[in-house]
Amino acid sequence: VTTGSLTSKAESLAWKKGSPVPYAALCKTFEQIESTTKRLQILAFLTAFFKDVIQLSPKDLVACIYLCLNRIGPEYEGKELGIGESILVKAVASATGRSAQSIKTDMAQHGDLGTVAQTSRGHQKTMFPPPPLTVVSVYKTLNEIASITGQSSQSLKIGKINKLLVACRDNEPKYLIRSLEGKLRIGLAEQSILQALAHAATLTDSSVVKLSEDKRATVLAEAAATFKHVYNELPNYDEIVPVLLEKGIKELPKYCKLRPGVPLKPMLAHPTKSLTDVLNRFENMTFTCEYKYDGERAQIHLLEYGKIVIYSRNSENLSAKYPDIIEAIPKIPKEGVKSFVLDCEAVAWDRQKQCILPFQVLSTRKRKDVQAADIQVQVCVFAFDLLYLNGEPLTTKHLKDRRDVLYEHFNEVDGVFAFAKHKESSNVEEIQTFLDEAVEGNCEGLMVKTLVQEASYEPSKRSRNWLKVKKDYLSGVGDTFDLVVIGGYIGRGKRTGWYGGYLLACYDEDREEYQSICKIGTGFSEEQLAEHAKFFKDHIIDRPKSYYQWSDTPNLRPDVWFDAVQVWEVKAADLSISPVHKAAIGHVDPNKGISLRFPRFMRVRDDKKPEQATNASQVADFYRSQKINSAAGELDD
Ligand code: ATP
Repeated sequence: VTTGSLTSKAESLAWKKGSPVPYAALCKTFEQIESTTKRLQILAFLTAFFKDVIQLSPKDLVACIYLCLNRIGPEYEGKELGIGESILVKAVASATGRSAQSIKTDMAQHGDLGTVAQTSRGHQKTMFPPPPLTVVSVYKTLNEIASITGQSSQSLKIGKINKLLVACRDNEPKYLIRSLEGKLRIGLAEQSILQALAHAATLTDSSVVKLSEDKRATVLAEAAATFKHVYNELPNYDEIVPVLLEKGIKELPKYCKLRPGVPLKPMLAHPTKSLTDVLNRFENMTFTCEYKYDGERAQIHLLEYGKIVIYSRNSENLSAKYPDIIEAIPKIPKEGVKSFVLDCEAVAWDRQKQCILPFQVLSTRKRKDVQAADIQVQVCVFAFDLLYLNGEPLTTKHLKDRRDVLYEHFNEVDGVFAFAKHKESSNVEEIQTFLDEAVEGNCEGLMVKTLVQEASYEPSKRSRNWLKVKKDYLSGVGDTFDLVVIGGYIGRGKRTGWYGGYLLACYDEDREEYQSICKIGTGFSEEQLAEHAKFFKDHIIDRPKSYYQWSDTPNLRPDVWFDAVQVWEVKAADLSISPVHKAAIGHVDPNKGISLRFPRFMRVRDDKKPEQATNASQVADFYRSQKINSAAGELDD
């Protein structure tokens, strides 16, 4: 029985039930997705593909999903391919019989090694072509490449890539190379993958297919919401997919739940510009104001067998950074606590004065392989939520209940572990005083949260049930921006030897591109200028990546381009429509982007990946809310 349905000119890509999914079928789907920017069409292509795969083994589906995501396992495991451009150029050269130099020359012209690899392979005649690649075999090889370490790792990696490339046909080299580069760039966001999976799994039920269009749309939307919820609580496809195939989507929440050892995607907050905004939003609701501690988010897990793991906002394992917290944790649960997941902020702590220290102090702490005895910067953990206790996820309970359970089962330990300070009041003066106290105590401001109604924990969501009020909300645009550094301008005068300024970009998730948003030259101390120059020395690239959007005007063109590797937190006075910058292009104006005015460097955000930078729609939201506020201001005047 043939289940696969895709065909190409070169050969039929249909695959038989029980036989592995050909890599060509996945690449064909990539090509279809890349050919359009329409969300619905992308969803339809991917759903059709997953529908075919879903009838096969979980192994095939898991491999397809990870290749679509350009990952080699769950995000929180942090496995990376670690292949530099030079290795890839060598591999393409050796697989195609060309010189590395000619590959580089072509790359300078096309800007994309994937396309160069495809064209070079296309010109080659192979006498005895190896068997076609399968999705599972490609995924397996990528995992093997990721685990190669040691002295001859480079040649071993090249060998494996070479073998894959030689077996590639049609458009496969292009997508294989892009996967190896870590940038697929077909405009496929994880949310679309989740939605397509949910739709595909639901549409295998013939009764759903027979429903009227309206009813079917409702069923599909519900399925997608269920699936996304499950994934946000247990972000591990290896675990979810087998259950999805065996039990179906409706049963998933029963079997796949949040559990210690798998970091759930943290709930996020909405920025606000004034306490009046907060009071308007929470009118007639019970809410609580908590100190917004200024440190690093720490999701602390205690597993049943006693293991403690700490995860960052990014689901990165921070355990090696905080051996002191790991050592202190056993003191905090009361008797009877066997397992938990706590949502906390780790903050730098002055043991002598018994007070919180600013974030800048925490940022000087070593990130890896910290020995307890060498620790200079002490930390105190402030817990603001309890998400799991003794075998039971608590995310659907409301905050008031979760907080009660937290207080009931944990002890505060001086200078080590405390509950987030909070106040329940709807009086604006009282809240203002509480905010002032928070700021006085080296906090960033307040988090204002619903307590009872609409007060469940919403993993991964930037929810209006959590509002952040930062101390400097009255000036500026209400929140800072997290932007990616993509270029540098050679410094002159006092800044000779460093960069005098940098080009920053936001990230457009739909287009998978970095869009220039401003040049920045203020807010840096001399030490920071030196540090940045040192850091970016290792990240210089010959030319802008094909996924950088910027205008080539003499005033803007950087002297040096950087790989998108670091995120900076930046404060700005306001936003304006820009003739040159490309941030959020198409969101507010069809042809113009948005830029930041008077940007000022605040800090490096090590806890955010470049793809987690402020995204284009957030930039557009900031711009729109600024317009609304200024219009309201004019009326008031
Ligand atoms: P975002 O996560 O919204 O993109 P961000 O990472 O820059 O932004 P902030 O905007 O500063 O973070 O606000 C949310 C962060 O505040 C949380 O991720 C958490 O680390 C920190 N935080 C400090 N105190 C609290 C609290 N009481 N409740 C929730 N989060 C808190």
